[in-house]
Amino acid sequence: MLLSQHSSNPLEVGSSDPRNRAYHNEYVAARRVNGPRNFTSEEEEGTGHHTLTGYRNHLAELYKSSSLKPMQGDTPPMVDLDEGMESEDDIKSMDCPQDICDLDDADVDDDDAQGETDEEMTIHLKPPEEQQEIQLEVANLLAAVPQLSEDYKIVDRLGTGTFSSVYKAIDLWYHTKWDNTPWHGHHLPHSSAYYQSVAYSKGSKVFVAIKRIYVTSNPERIRNEISIMQDCRGTRHTCQLITAFRHQDQIVAIMPYHRNDDFREFYRDLPMAGIKAYFRCMFRALRDVHSRNIIHRDVKPANFLFDPRMGIGTLCDFGLASRIESSTPTHGACMHTPSSPEYPHGKPRSRHEYDIEQLKRMQREARQKSSWPSDRVGYPDKDTRPHSKANRAGTRGFRAPEVLLKCGQQTGAVDVWSAGMILLFFLTGKFPLFQSSDDIEALMEIATIIGRQRMERTAILHSRTFATNVPSIANEGTSWREFVERQNPGLRDVPRPDVRYYPYHPANTPSYSSQPPPSSSSTFDPPSRLQSPPMAHVQPTQDSHNEDIENALSLLEKLMEPDSTRRMTPRDALYHPFLADPSEVEDDELFPHPFGEGRCRRYHFVDEVTEEPCVLVSVDGHERVRRLVAGEGIAIGNNPCEFHMEEFGLED
Ligand SMILES: [Zn+2]
Ligand SMILES: [Zn+2]
Repeated sequence: MLLSQHSSNPLEVGSSDPRNRAYHNEYVAARRVNGPRNFTSEEEEGTGHHTLTGYRNHLAELYKSSSLKPMQGDTPPMVDLDEGMESEDDIKSMDCPQDICDLDDADVDDDDAQGETDEEMTIHLKPPEEQQEIQLEVANLLAAVPQLSEDYKIVDRLGTGTFSSVYKAIDLWYHTKWDNTPWHGHHLPHSSAYYQSVAYSKGSKVFVAIKRIYVTSNPERIRNEISIMQDCRGTRHTCQLITAFRHQDQIVAIMPYHRNDDFREFYRDLPMAGIKAYFRCMFRALRDVHSRNIIHRDVKPANFLFDPRMGIGTLCDFGLASRIESSTPTHGACMHTPSSPEYPHGKPRSRHEYDIEQLKRMQREARQKSSWPSDRVGYPDKDTRPHSKANRAGTRGFRAPEVLLKCGQQTGAVDVWSAGMILLFFLTGKFPLFQSSDDIEALMEIATIIGRQRMERTAILHSRTFATNVPSIANEGTSWREFVERQNPGLRDVPRPDVRYYPYHPANTPSYSSQPPPSSSSTFDPPSRLQSPPMAHVQPTQDSHNEDIENALSLLEKLMEPDSTRRMTPRDALYHPFLADPSEVEDDELFPHPFGEGRCRRYHFVDEVTEEPCVLVSVDGHERVRRLVAGEGIAIGNNPCEFHMEEFGLED
């Protein structure tokens, strides 16, 4: 049972959600008029109903035998962790097998064309009722944005929500009409993000995700999301914006389609090499996004589209993302500095910058209150600031302590905490882990583990105090390591290679490809577009597994550091022994600099009037200004951008 949850969509809820009642009534009315089978798609006309039923049964049969794994007996209860504060993101996973790629991958002799045909047919794996519902939605979308049908053929729905829905479509003119280079970018062949830059082979079907943002959505929010995605062009393992347009009051964003599985399906069984691949992609995405002064703010499994067969992940859904504010508010400043290039997560202010005695007094008072026999105790106490407008967006269960404490100068560290939470799921084999119903409870849950003293120190950092008389919260907490060991007694058992997943999946074996091996083992490319990397599938030994576990626990401790200023940065995480691979090129060499930085920065500038990115290029010995679109002119590592290779004696 693969759950479809394409989460380019921030706000997924089933269309049976009461908030979508208007739509539902429309659907029911349409059914009454048209009858249940009257929403004919092109496929149905073309292949006939019987063929389709047969095909669907065939797929279902294959699906069952090749990839469906019986649910484990002690599957944790599904709790809705996905509740956003700001937007009331109420996400519900959809019971529809969206991704049938297992089929092609299980049969590695299949040619690419076959695999892509299957992607086109995924809708037929869904129950008839849902298929009709989707067809109605698609008809509705095409009526609202007529020009869509000229350029795209919508084949399935990937997710649906309160404020938007996402559909899978074929880009009909990829090969002929569009210039795709700006969003493909120029990642180097030995980068794990190289697949993003490789153009689809001529004649192949190119799938995209079309996000329809409902008119009910806040216009400022839409503008923010689109503008942030534009700034994230050229970043690694992030959902790229191909284009966005509006028709009257409708707004539509087009992004590449990334196949993925539901986290719950693979997180217990993914081999250690797959977990490393997961976090390499995750931290490359965060490194690149943070370097552009953007915080994602909603890092969680549903927003990281991961293909566990190939070990490729994509950070998506920038609906709650925000820009890092580097100015310090004059009132109620935290005890730490804002983000700066030198200290991306800020650093503690020096002593003379604040009144330490005042803080100590506050904390003493808070402690006294803790001894009161009152049900009022057990909350962060006393906000010293006049009025807090802290950003609390995000998903319950993934919020960092400083978000819960309403820190006014949040940094990329909030995303690092959330990523650490995901590592915690992998290591404990439990998801979800925390089930708080509000921010206070979430703080208490963290305090239960890290202890009262550390939570008090964390609160002070953000000019807050923390008071509690909950007996289970000890003065001295434990470490995350101990927590994991208690939660997962089988942690050090060496797992058997699982051929369903990276790196043991057949698509990753050398025999799959006749192409010469690429230089890096982390170059995991989808087989439909590139050859797959041959992996030396060294099976874990007790020793190597122990070493991996030790490294993973060490990384976990640094990611889940409650003090945001001491929390590891994404860049440093990539250099941590758990994720660094000495046989590979260093991440600094593959890092796509923000526009205007990197080796050729002196030729780059932003037009002060139009705010367009520009470069100076030499034409016939004369310097000319060339205006760029987002995604062009990005220098990678120590290399100049695509416009300045010659200046540095390099071939383009
Ligand atoms: Zn703070
Ligand atoms: Zn350049």
